[in-house]
Amino acid sequence: MGRYTGPNCRLCRRAGEKLFLKGERCYTPRCAVEKRRSTPGDPSRRRRRPTDYGIHLLEKQKAKYIFGVLESQFRKYMSDAFEEDGVTGTNLLRTLERRLDNVIFLLGFADSRKQARQMVLHGHFKVDGRRTDIPSFLVGVGHEITWKDSDKTSDYFKERTDGIPKRPVPPWLVLDQTDMSGKILNLPADEDLQQSINSRLIVEFYSR
Ligand code: SF4
Repeated sequence: MGRYTGPNCRLCRRAGEKLFLKGERCYTPRCAVEKRRSTPGDPSRRRRRPTDYGIHLLEKQKAKYIFGVLESQFRKYMSDAFEEDGVTGTNLLRTLERRLDNVIFLLGFADSRKQARQMVLHGHFKVDGRRTDIPSFLVGVGHEITWKDSDKTSDYFKERTDGIPKRPVPPWLVLDQTDMSGKILNLPADEDLQQSINSRLIVEFYSR
């Protein structure tokens, strides 16, 4: 199945919570979840109580929506997480956090993960001096993220980096505001992982 191209807010309403898919707007009263709590679709066809399967499925979908990952990629992350040592759900969330598009978002270079993905695809960033245009690239400890040299004199760069940081940068990353570069200090600790996702439900979904 291809990438979802419909309205982002519909995904939040489906999940019944804010997934912060749109950047600035998500923090304003214009957020669709703030305005309308009901799930999308015909109310007469809605189940009153979700099944166990539905609860597990929704949690998995939520993680996919937040990180903008397709099913095939998500399955691969999941099978890698099962093979790694440690807690499977934590392994999965840690991998998702390490995606380059997510790191660009966390450093504040983009307003949303979707925008970060687009910027990575357009080749705006380098990892350890090498142009990297793969949003799923997994960063590791010590990696340095910089902007493409020609970007630094552009209006686009100024516009994107003006007022950074707008959000707090998580402790596993360092933002150098003098040249707008980022560095990976450590792998994300348990408390740095996406707290709104119940990874246990996702692991149970794939263990059925
Ligand atoms: Fe979700 Fe953001 Fe839309 Fe609110 S504004 S419903 S958080 S995507």
